[in-house]
Amino acid sequence: MTSHEDSSMPVVDMPGNRPFAPRVSGFTRPFWDALGAGRLCTTRCADCGAFGFPPRNLCRTCWSRTVRWVELAPHGRLYSFTRVHVVPGAFAGDAPYAIGIVDLADGVRLMCRMLGEVTADHLDRPVEMVVLRYDDGPLFGARVV
Ligand SMILES: [Zn+2]
Repeated sequence: MTSHEDSSMPVVDMPGNRPFAPRVSGFTRPFWDALGAGRLCTTRCADCGAFGFPPRNLCRTCWSRTVRWVELAPHGRLYSFTRVHVVPGAFAGDAPYAIGIVDLADGVRLMCRMLGEVTADHLDRPVEMVVLRYDDGPLFGARVV
C-alpha cells in the first residue's frame, strides 16, 4: 500500500457503539484496520487507475478484477451537504446532523457525517477527514477546517 506523509487523521471520540456497525469481510478488513489506525484507504484499479469507493474488488470503470489498496490523503472540499432532521431511531439522539458530500484531493467523492455546524457558506471550503472512534470500532467523518 502506498503511504502519504503526514496523513494520519484526527480522532474524535464518539459515545457508545456505532448505530449500524459495518459488516467486515475478509476483503474490507484492510479498510477498517487502516481506519482504526487513523488512515483512510480504498482500492484503485491496477489497469485503468480508477479509484473505487467504498473499496471494491471489481473496477466499475473497466471491470478489471486487479485492484490494489491505496491510502488517500484525508482532506478535500465540501461539495454539498444536507441537514437531517427526521432520522432512524438509532440516530435519534444525534438529530439534527449534517451529511456531506466531500471531494477528496485524490479525486474520490464520498458521503459522510459532518461534524460541527455546516452552512451554505461552507460549500467548497476545505474539509479534513476524521476518525469517529466508537466503543466498538471506527467510522469516518469530516469537518470544515
Ligand atoms: Zn479499471
